Amino acid sequence: MITELSIADIIKRQRDFFQTGKTKDVDFRVAQLKVLKQAVFENKEVVIKALQADLRKPEFEAYALEVAALKEIDFTIKNIHNWVKPKKVSVPPEQLPASAKIYPEPLGVVLIISPWNYPFQLAISPLVGAIAAGNCAIIKPSEISSHTSAVIAEIIAKYFNADYITVVEGGVETSQKLLAEKFDHIFFTGGTAVGKIIMEAAAKHLTPVTLELGGKSPCIVDTDINLEHTAKRITWGKFINAGQTCIAPDYLLVNQKIKPDLLNAIEKCMKEFYGNNPESSPDYARLISQKHFQRVAKFLEDGNIKIGGEINQDECYIAPTVLDNVSPEASIMQEEIFGPILPVMEYSDIKEAISFINSKPKPLALYLFSNNKTLQQKVLQDTSSGGVCINDTIMQVGVSSLPFGGVGDSGMGSYHGKKSFDTFSHYKSVLQRNFLIDLNWRYAPYNLAKLNFVKKIIG
Ligand code: NAD
Repeated sequence: MITELSIADIIKRQRDFFQTGKTKDVDFRVAQLKVLKQAVFENKEVVIKALQADLRKPEFEAYALEVAALKEIDFTIKNIHNWVKPKKVSVPPEQLPASAKIYPEPLGVVLIISPWNYPFQLAISPLVGAIAAGNCAIIKPSEISSHTSAVIAEIIAKYFNADYITVVEGGVETSQKLLAEKFDHIFFTGGTAVGKIIMEAAAKHLTPVTLELGGKSPCIVDTDINLEHTAKRITWGKFINAGQTCIAPDYLLVNQKIKPDLLNAIEKCMKEFYGNNPESSPDYARLISQKHFQRVAKFLEDGNIKIGGEINQDECYIAPTVLDNVSPEASIMQEEIFGPILPVMEYSDIKEAISFINSKPKPLALYLFSNNKTLQQKVLQDTSSGGVCINDTIMQVGVSSLPFGGVGDSGMGSYHGKKSFDTFSHYKSVLQRNFLIDLNWRYAPYNLAKLNFVKKIIG
């Protein structure tokens, strides 16, 4: 049990360490990124086992979407020397001689609170940015993915000095104790409702926040598509991690002309991916908990089960399911599903699909399957979402040069690649002048010539 005092103490020790200035040294940061890489690399089997224990996560998915944090570390090590360089900017002529530069500087001690669905990746990936930018960090992993939480705590304790980077394990109460303290940044990944709690707590200390939240990410399917590729990409994106992916396509908005063909193609893919009985497939994960299972299983009543629908409560198993004839008023359409059920809604004119999306909170991701360039532009122009992926699902998250984050209810701020460095940095503006000349135009007593000069500058 962590007491209030010990949390305060941990933070105090990290503040003292930060004050030594060690983390400001870029060589130190690179060395620590290499330590993190080694820590992930040497422990990947343990991590994969923990993910299996928590979510029965298939090894492939654990590698591709969690141990993948290694790629982010490599990208950062490769680019950090460019990112830390002060950036020279222009100076208006009346200020010359002078130079202006923007210096990135670390924020201090940051808090990273992570969720249970990709419990390793979503703790480690923000940490890469925090280290690169020169901060000390405390990670609070989700208590719900308890095996992975324990492994993260063990690994970090083994490879890092706790005065620099440490893990505080625990649930809501621990989270609240952490939030009662002052941090220099809070990076939170989780649900929208909890995001509000985090922001409220942060406001008391004027702590800036990054909120990586969730929501209902729509997937529009037009008629002008490659049916086979579309079906595969939707099936994969929806059912990896048993649908417990923040950017999973939450529901389909499909052109009614292609709906029967699309659903048949998705059914074929589901059989190819998981066989006739997905419960026995090693490539299909489980829901995280009984509570979560019950919440998601209820949605099965919200439409006609077209494919799947089987459940096994003891195993927290819900088959990959496609739900047809779903009313927009149904409960499955009111909240993020975060499970392996794909409701299907249809449209006859793209305007209907767009206005449906715009009647809901802004999603984290928006998917569009269409070769039609005019339609692509229309959807891009007429909707707002954290990100968009055209003709695929999920893959946008793997492009380090694309910032990842939400807008409105799906979050604020972003990260990945350079954006992670930016998120954990303060950009300090520095104007530097010298003593060579000192023109009198701005000093009192003001006269007409000075006034005219100012008028000329202002325009
Ligand atoms: P959650 O919000 O319940 O929990 C996230 C973290 O917050 C956990 O560490 C938890 O201990 C802590 N927490 C929970 N309640 C709290 C409270 N009252 N006060 C303080 N801390 C609290 O989220 P979850 O169930 O772990 O994850 C699922 C949600 O996360 C989904 O909505 C999903 O879309 C979202 N998500 C978003 C992203 C993204 O990158 N945008 C990624 C993964 C998950």
